[in-house]
Amino acid sequence: MLDFDSAQDRLIQAAAVPVRSERIPVDQALGRINAQVMYANLDIPPADNSAMDGYAVRHQDVTVDHPLPIQDHIYAGDEPMPLEPGKAIRLFTGSVMPEGADTVVMQEHCTEDNGTVEINRLPPQGANVRLRGEDMANDQSIILQGQRLNSRHQSLLAAQGFTHIDVYPVPKIGILSTGDELVDPGKPLREGQIYNSNTPMLDDLIHELGAETVARRHAPDTIEGIQEALKQLTESCDVVLTVGGVSVGEKDFVKPAIEQMGGQMDLWRVRMKPGRPVTLAQVRRTPVIGLPGNPVSAYAVFVLMVSPLIRRLQGRTQILPTVLYGYLDSSRSFYGQRDEFLRVQATPKSDGRLQLIPHPKQGSAMISSLAWANGLARIPADQEVKNGDIVRYYDFRLWTS
Ligand code: AMP
Ligand code: MG
Repeated sequence: MLDFDSAQDRLIQAAAVPVRSERIPVDQALGRINAQVMYANLDIPPADNSAMDGYAVRHQDVTVDHPLPIQDHIYAGDEPMPLEPGKAIRLFTGSVMPEGADTVVMQEHCTEDNGTVEINRLPPQGANVRLRGEDMANDQSIILQGQRLNSRHQSLLAAQGFTHIDVYPVPKIGILSTGDELVDPGKPLREGQIYNSNTPMLDDLIHELGAETVARRHAPDTIEGIQEALKQLTESCDVVLTVGGVSVGEKDFVKPAIEQMGGQMDLWRVRMKPGRPVTLAQVRRTPVIGLPGNPVSAYAVFVLMVSPLIRRLQGRTQILPTVLYGYLDSSRSFYGQRDEFLRVQATPKSDGRLQLIPHPKQGSAMISSLAWANGLARIPADQEVKNGDIVRYYDFRLWTS
């Protein structure tokens, strides 16, 4: 049996990092992966300017409570004249600093009267001035390669005036569900049938990560049906996920189907719960990953093991999201020979610690536990974990984005 971390690593290695990139408008770049280090084109701010509404002065000219004549008013966007000795210039947040002025006095510390201003409290020289380039200096790197672009990057790109950016292509994922008992929502159920809940779930997980489901197929439990679907999916996708049909039951035909197509298939019994087995095959040079059919297992295996593979395929630098820690709040203790991932509700407490409460139903078919939980707590194999013990916590928000 393979331990969880090795299996996770082997799956990551099955993905090829992207070699191509494409140039797209920045307003379409949300969620895409930056393919090249971005460098600043401009000093930001482009000129020294005021951080306050107030008065620009030459510090050495000021005597507290003595009036200075107001030479001019400068608004944000105006080009100022130089400050004359012994005078002040009225300005506002974002106004360019006049040549000769070195300090801005906030208006709350001034008294204006009849064309003059008295400075009632003098700040240190240089106060309330934002210096040219102090935010971003020209040529400085501003976004690293391999970052997933978010609204904060967008602000930075716009501030620099960029209209286009090089990003990696969006990975194309195919989903193949299997099982004679499965029916799509919207159709009536016959005796013994259930709705296919894994395909919509995986589709959304793929979307949340920033990849795209380009094809969804459902195959009956026959070798021919699975092969026909796999042929089509491996042609159009970078990675294919199959779900169900990969254990050792009589109708588990994914393995023979792949092997008869000449695919090499590794079936791993991963020392994790829920989740075993997980399979990896190369079919016509496309990685095909077999997920367990039970919905909780499929979700956990995708989040913990497939999402890193997709991140690598996307060209991201951070393949493994951060793992957090919390303490187990549970009346029962846990012990097992496999690493167990419990669906837990995590709540930050006022002492700074994260409380992890396990769902009472931890069975791998318990769909209701998934939406209730906000992450997975990891109980290490061969180790008793009791109430109050610190464990690793895999937060869904981090692991599905
Ligand atoms: P299997 O691995 O095909 O034996 O499936 C294990 C369990 O998961 C069975 O109870 C299946 O009915 C269920 N299952 C498999 N695929 C899906 C699916 N797409 N949606 C919901 N349940 C599924
Ligand atoms: Mg099945």
